[in-house]
Amino acid sequence: MTTPFRRVVDTVEWMTAVVTMSVELELGWGVHDLDEHADHLTEDGREERRFLRRLLDVCDETGVAMTFDVVDHLLLTACDGHHDGPYPEGWFDADPGTDVAVDPLFYAPDVVEAIRDRPTEHELCTHSFSHTPLETVDAAAVSADLERGQQLEADVLGQRSRSFVPPRHRPPPSDVLVDRGIDVVRIAIMNQADNPVRRAGQLLFGPPPMRDPEWIDGVLWTYCSTHPNLTAPSLPSGQRPAGRPLGWLPTGLAQRLHLQYLERATLRAIENDEHLHLWCHLYDLSNERQMAPVSEYLQTLARLREQGRVEVCTMDELPDRYPAAVESSAPPGE
Ligand SMILES: [Zn+2]
Ligand SMILES: [Zn+2]
Repeated sequence: MTTPFRRVVDTVEWMTAVVTMSVELELGWGVHDLDEHADHLTEDGREERRFLRRLLDVCDETGVAMTFDVVDHLLLTACDGHHDGPYPEGWFDADPGTDVAVDPLFYAPDVVEAIRDRPTEHELCTHSFSHTPLETVDAAAVSADLERGQQLEADVLGQRSRSFVPPRHRPPPSDVLVDRGIDVVRIAIMNQADNPVRRAGQLLFGPPPMRDPEWIDGVLWTYCSTHPNLTAPSLPSGQRPAGRPLGWLPTGLAQRLHLQYLERATLRAIENDEHLHLWCHLYDLSNERQMAPVSEYLQTLARLREQGRVEVCTMDELPDRYPAAVESSAPPGE
């Protein structure tokens, strides 16, 4: 796949972009309250596991690390289907109360191990324990759910997350983040055009919204788009065909356009010395068509990093890259 990017890239004065990529790993917990049929997933999670391995292979080849946002229930090997609340009425009705052999979409410690086994130092970040939407519960429940996830991480992985990706982009209360030891949180910038033609243009060509991370009440907030954009909206999302009106594009064209979207966004971030945060769900990229532009883009990133034009940072590396302003303790005038 050749794009105009390669020609442009050598002719401009450059700053340095910081690129972060986060991948939501939720399997059966993602939308069980919205979509009973879950046609975006394979029934046994086999393809999602296979494409995760493919992604991890490319990451190892290129040395590019990612943040994986894990619904912590997946760390369990088995459970009885009951978890003390408060949770929204019926939230755990979807919990099969079995084990990883019977329901590999609801238990997936093997998936987390597969990420940890790799030489590339990926980050595991909490995506909550239960994927309960924050707007349906109070702050104490958000805190308890995060704590349950992090305790499980401490037991199973020997460490707690420093970063949090809240389910469905809902901003969490800052004091809860501080109490739970969260340093970095990912939030979406609401920038969708209401006009469907302009929206289609946004999704196909970009640019995605970019905003440098900022410290708010002791936590670093990093910003992404509302729509998954590491993967292409014009290609099938996992097992589900691409929606109208973008799904009519021929595969090759959709792939080229998406690689251009990613490369142009990176170019813009380099020119403006900005932070670009791309994201998707694991299921989004779990098909051959999505995998091709993502792989190619990681090669591009590796090349740009070698040239000193891009830094790739996982979410937990962002506080060092964007340190909080240190206030001088000396009184003015001294
Ligand atoms: Zn359970
Ligand atoms: Zn999610």
